[in-house]
Amino acid sequence: MKIPFNKPYLSGDEASYIAEAVQSGKISGDGIFTKKCHSFFEDKYGFKKVLLTTSCTDALEMAAMLIDVQPGDEVIVPSFTFVSTANAFVLRGAKIVFVDSCQDQPNMDADKIEALITSKTKAIVPMHYAGFACDMNKIMAIANKYNLFVIEDAAQAIDNYFEGKVLGSFGHLSAFSFHETKNVISGEGGMLVINDEQFIGRAEIVREKGTNRSAFFRGEIDKYGWVDMGSSFLPSDIIAAFLYAQLENLDIIQRKRKLIWKYYSDQLQTLADAGFFTLPIVPPGSENNAHMYYMVCNNLEERTALTSHLKEMDIHAVFHYLPLHSSLFYVEKHDGRILSNCDFFSDRLLRLPFFFELSTEMQQQVVNGISSFYNAKLK
Ligand SMILES: *Cc1c(COP(=O)(O)O)cnc(C)c1O
Repeated sequence: MKIPFNKPYLSGDEASYIAEAVQSGKISGDGIFTKKCHSFFEDKYGFKKVLLTTSCTDALEMAAMLIDVQPGDEVIVPSFTFVSTANAFVLRGAKIVFVDSCQDQPNMDADKIEALITSKTKAIVPMHYAGFACDMNKIMAIANKYNLFVIEDAAQAIDNYFEGKVLGSFGHLSAFSFHETKNVISGEGGMLVINDEQFIGRAEIVREKGTNRSAFFRGEIDKYGWVDMGSSFLPSDIIAAFLYAQLENLDIIQRKRKLIWKYYSDQLQTLADAGFFTLPIVPPGSENNAHMYYMVCNNLEERTALTSHLKEMDIHAVFHYLPLHSSLFYVEKHDGRILSNCDFFSDRLLRLPFFFELSTEMQQQVVNGISSFYNAKLK
């Protein structure tokens, strides 16, 4: 049986909701389904204001515009993350100051942030890797002390909590993703969460090409025009219809993913105890939203060999991430600091197949593949 790395979940209602959106006669942005999605998130998580966007990348770009990043401003970003976490700020001319990962898990090391702050620092951008929470107590305390903005890259962190408070509700602004590799999907798609009220009005404008069209449609003004910079960040209601069919099944999705996560964890414990690799550590204060399952190999060579071994068995496991501080685009701009924990995880981390329809049989096949690799090393 071939086991892919990911397979998009479908609730079964996506096509009929899309048909409904089409029949409603309004399929541009902010239609019926977009409003349903907005209410879902505001009601379930108590977010002050949410706006669907075309991607998490776009939500991050909106955030960079909203906090008014200017050329030369510095933004503190983890190096172990997806490019968009940094790119959104680079587009506004920011200098990215990369912070290393923790020693025992890939999230940004909050204890290393304060030393990076200068008079030009504008924001800190924590990314919750694998959905696991960064240390939001320390990060918010530093941000408050130095009067900095916090933008959470919560792309992987839907329905997760830090010390009982939902992720995405800590930062002034937060960005989520509904890309097909995430827990809840719309193909491409994202969401901006606005926790600091001062940004709500402008967020609507930036998302609507710099116009006050949203206020116009609410009847608050009698004509709309160009009032600020902006772009087209709102998704079609077709996308929102797809997303809403997923959101209605969020609890089912999460329950199933948690079982899949636990199965890997239980089955791989013996090999981990024998020292062949380490299992993910859920950081203190964080819940687990079962976004992904990864193992940390003992070195790069072993990870490469294990990946090939699994591939021969038709199992697709993939690494994460190439460090941004040594990327082709940023290496010359980086200040040269060695980020050894980031490099450590970049060389050793391997993500295992993880998706809603992954059966126990398939999971056992993955576990057997991993066991056969390490047992062969013992002989
Ligand atoms: C998936 C992801 C993104 C990008 O999401 P898009 O919706 O594809 O733009 C950004 N940051 C992180 C950490 C991600 O995992």
